[in-house]
Amino acid sequence: MREVTEPEELRNLLTGRRCEDKSIGLVPTMGHLHEGHLHLLDEARRENDIVVLSVFVNPTQFSPNEDFERYPRDLERDRRLANQSKVDILFTPTENSMYPRGPSSQEVWVDPGALAEYLCGPSRPGHFEGVATVVAKLFVMVQPDAAYFGQKDAQQSVIVSKLACDLNFAVRVRVVPTVREGDGLARSSRNVYLSADERREAVALFGALSGAESLLGLGERDPRVLEKEIWKYIAEKAPSARIDYVSAVDLYSLLPAEAQLARPTLIAVAALFGSTRLIDNTIVDFISGEVRFGWPSTG
Ligand code: AMP
Repeated sequence: MREVTEPEELRNLLTGRRCEDKSIGLVPTMGHLHEGHLHLLDEARRENDIVVLSVFVNPTQFSPNEDFERYPRDLERDRRLANQSKVDILFTPTENSMYPRGPSSQEVWVDPGALAEYLCGPSRPGHFEGVATVVAKLFVMVQPDAAYFGQKDAQQSVIVSKLACDLNFAVRVRVVPTVREGDGLARSSRNVYLSADERREAVALFGALSGAESLLGLGERDPRVLEKEIWKYIAEKAPSARIDYVSAVDLYSLLPAEAQLARPTLIAVAALFGSTRLIDNTIVDFISGEVRFGWPSTG
C-alpha cells in the first residue's frame, strides 16, 4: 500500500496506472474506519484493479457548532485496516492541499440546490455544500471509474449521484447497503460518543424502521401512517431521544412521498441522543406489486 498526501503525487501515480488500463475505485471517508467503511472497500476491491481510500476530516461540512475538533481520528489504526483491506493507495491529504487558500477562503462551491433543503439540510446548514465540494475535488484528483458511498448517508448518496451526473463526471456512483452492529444499530464513527444508556436506546431507530418494513410487507402504502408509526416507536423505546425528523420521501427528488407509495421511497430518520445526532433509513421500491428493500441500482 502506498500512502500519499499530495494531490500532485497522487495524480502522477494514478496516471501511470491508468495508462496500464487499470480501473480505479475510490472510497472517500473521514477515517476512524469501521465495518461500514470496510464493506465499501470490499466492494471497490471486487470491482476495480486499483482501490484508492481517502481519509480526510473535511472541515467545510461541519457547522461551527458541530464536532469537527472532537471528531474521532486514528490514522495509525486506519493505516492498518486499509492495509488489511488490500487498499492500493491511501490518500491522506492535508487541509492545505484540499483548500489551498484555507477552508474559509474557498469562494467557489458545489451547490446541491433543493436536495440540500430537505431531511438533514435544515439542521445542518452548509453541510451538503461542503460534502459536494470536497467530493467534487476528490473526483477531480482521483478521476475514479467508480466511487463507493453508503446507504446509511442516503441523502449524501443521492446528492453525490446527481453531482456526478449533472457535472458530467465519468464516474459510476455505487451505493452500498448499511452495515449494522449485532443488535441492528447502524455503524457510525459517531457511535463512540454514546453513553451506555444512549447506546441502548439508539437501537430504537433500527427497530422503528424494521417495524415500518413489516407494515410495508403487510400492504401499508400510506407514507404518513408509516412516519407516524416510526415516530411513535422511537418516542416509546427511546424516551430520551430528541427526534429531528421522520420522513418518507421520493428517493430521487427527496420531496415528500405521495399519498399512495408506488415509487422508490427513502424512509429516513434523524434523532439526537444527548448531543450525538444519529441517522438511519430504509429504502423501499415496488416491483409488480411486491416490496423490495435496498438501493434500487445495487439490487
Ligand atoms: P464517513 O467516514 O462517516 O464520512 O463515511 C464514509 C463513507 O462510509 C460514506 O459513504 C458513508 O455513507 C459510508 N458509511 C458510513 N457508515 C456506514 C455503514 N454503517 N454502512 C455502510 N456504509 C457506511
